[in-house]
Amino acid sequence: MSVQTYTYDGPEELHALVGQVMASLGYVGGREVTCVGAAVVVRAAGGHLALRCTFRDGGAPWVSEAVLLGTKRQREAVKDCLIHWYDRFSGRGPSPWGTLIGVRPTKLVHHLFDQGLDDRSAAKTLEGTYHVAPETARRLVAMARLQRPYVTDRGRKLALYVGIPYCASHCLYCSFPSRLIGREGEGGFKAFRDAVLADLDDLKDLCRTYDLDVTSLYVGGGTPTCLPQAILQPILERLAGNFPHVREWTVEAGRPDTAKPEMLAMLRACGVDRISVNPQTMQQRLLDALGRRHSVADIYTMYENCRKLGFSVVNMDFIAGLPGQTLADMQENMEIVCKLHPENVTIHTLALKKRAPLFHHVLRAAVPPAEETGRMVRLCRTVLTAKGYLPYYMYRQKYMAASFANTGYALPGSISAYNIEMMEERQSVLAAGPGGATKFLARDGHTLEKVYMPKDVDAYIEALPEKMAQRRRLCAIIYGGEI
Ligand code: SF4
Repeated sequence: MSVQTYTYDGPEELHALVGQVMASLGYVGGREVTCVGAAVVVRAAGGHLALRCTFRDGGAPWVSEAVLLGTKRQREAVKDCLIHWYDRFSGRGPSPWGTLIGVRPTKLVHHLFDQGLDDRSAAKTLEGTYHVAPETARRLVAMARLQRPYVTDRGRKLALYVGIPYCASHCLYCSFPSRLIGREGEGGFKAFRDAVLADLDDLKDLCRTYDLDVTSLYVGGGTPTCLPQAILQPILERLAGNFPHVREWTVEAGRPDTAKPEMLAMLRACGVDRISVNPQTMQQRLLDALGRRHSVADIYTMYENCRKLGFSVVNMDFIAGLPGQTLADMQENMEIVCKLHPENVTIHTLALKKRAPLFHHVLRAAVPPAEETGRMVRLCRTVLTAKGYLPYYMYRQKYMAASFANTGYALPGSISAYNIEMMEERQSVLAAGPGGATKFLARDGHTLEKVYMPKDVDAYIEALPEKMAQRRRLCAIIYGGEI
């Protein structure tokens, strides 16, 4: 799996757009001139734009140029040219996503529904205007239709995310900047807990002041369950006390070695009804190579414990394209899923990120080719849909030329409202804890005003008072009518 870089030379107002397009084609913005895989140059002249792109893959440079006449649709023309040129240069043929470059393609379908289009017209628009392949268009429209009740008329109902950026060990493929629990002292845990509690109390106060109602809760990470119970429990109890009208509450317990029966029982006692058990894959040799530090047996034990304790929804995450993984491995994963029959299954595809240990690791050479990963993804879709699972939310991977997306599947009646709310960005989402992103839907109903918490625990603790003030100010403007 290679990571290509590109350079851009042109007007600043097109820089972000070109970056988005190149990311969708698998290129990251690069400064190291030696490994540049593409160079995009835009020149403005007399109301026109001259666009030039040079792709390189070791052979002779592949150059294409166009003059974009007029000022209308110039941005779309830049996007269309770069994508079509890449299709020809790479020989991959047209992408099933056509000229869609966003990570959340169902958002566009909701905009089409807002304009009054029915399913058939929306699919036709995706095919005609955005060159999306008919099968992909049909799937996107079906998914957006399923989501529709969750994205309309949310009023003052909000979702709340709490970030717990601690892990038991660092998985080889993961770029998340988690802090290892073994390196945290007791004082550090307490300072983290107290900061999160203050954060949650501030959010409670905002909800009371502006008549906001948190209806879905998600505690993610990291691995929240790797915290000492004495640290996690007060956070969950505060959540239960501060936000009493929650209809669904998920906690990620991604590492089965961290979710002992007492920990799971505490989650249930606090009111958590959904849990994420994340095997990623069910072969011991792969788990060992990834540094997961748990056994396949641990996954079964945790799953059984969750069932005994009565969690109403269990989610299982899998990754396609892990180093050394084969189609037969994924076939085995899906057979196990069919036997266990968890309510939710999420299929991710491996995205090789610069910050992940795998990026510089010898096992990078064992990452399967994109075609094999594609076969795994299709296998999962076929097996899961045949078993009655509905694909209900998805997001595309950035920086991957292959047309991969991460997809959440649910048995009927077990859809996670939170996942849709987060992905479709049609309602405000509050966030507490390091790395949390509070997103307020502005009064126009579309623009998002955001407040990001620092990802690092110490930086979060230090910045918390300032970030809370920023959040309050935005809330006053959006919900309190202040100017
Ligand atoms: S995959 Fe999950 S458990 Fe592993 S390092 Fe990343 S956040 Fe932690």
